[in-house]
Amino acid sequence: MNNEMQILKIMELRKKGYGYKRIAKELDMTVSAVRYAITKYEEDEVLSGVCKHCGQETMSIKGRKRKVFCSDKCRWAWWNNNKEQVNKQAYYKHVCKNCGTEFKAYGAKHRIYCGQKCYIESKTNKNGDTHAEK
Ligand SMILES: [Zn+2]
Ligand SMILES: [Zn+2]
Repeated sequence: MNNEMQILKIMELRKKGYGYKRIAKELDMTVSAVRYAITKYEEDEVLSGVCKHCGQETMSIKGRKRKVFCSDKCRWAWWNNNKEQVNKQAYYKHVCKNCGTEFKAYGAKHRIYCGQKCYIESKTNKNGDTHAEK
């Protein structure tokens, strides 16, 4: 079982006013394990936030990555809803100066060539290396 998830679950039940014994029973843990977890992560070590998708309260452990969503389900739902918007912001359309191919580049505003190949080709053409024989 994920340790972090377990701690958050304990804190959740603790907030509801559950005692050590009841939490232990609920989560199939020993009372001493519950007590240990609670003393280790005092209430001020747990930060509460609001799920970006459903608005439900979320809890994160201080010093660890802050939870933005209450569950994976909400994370996926949010990303699916905002996928188009996210893509629009992140992708830029370009036309390759060497071969004329239209391409999309992620987060790069100033790309001129569709790839390394065209970049090298355009350089060698400029220098006349490929047309040395005339
Ligand atoms: Zn949620
Ligand atoms: Zn190209």
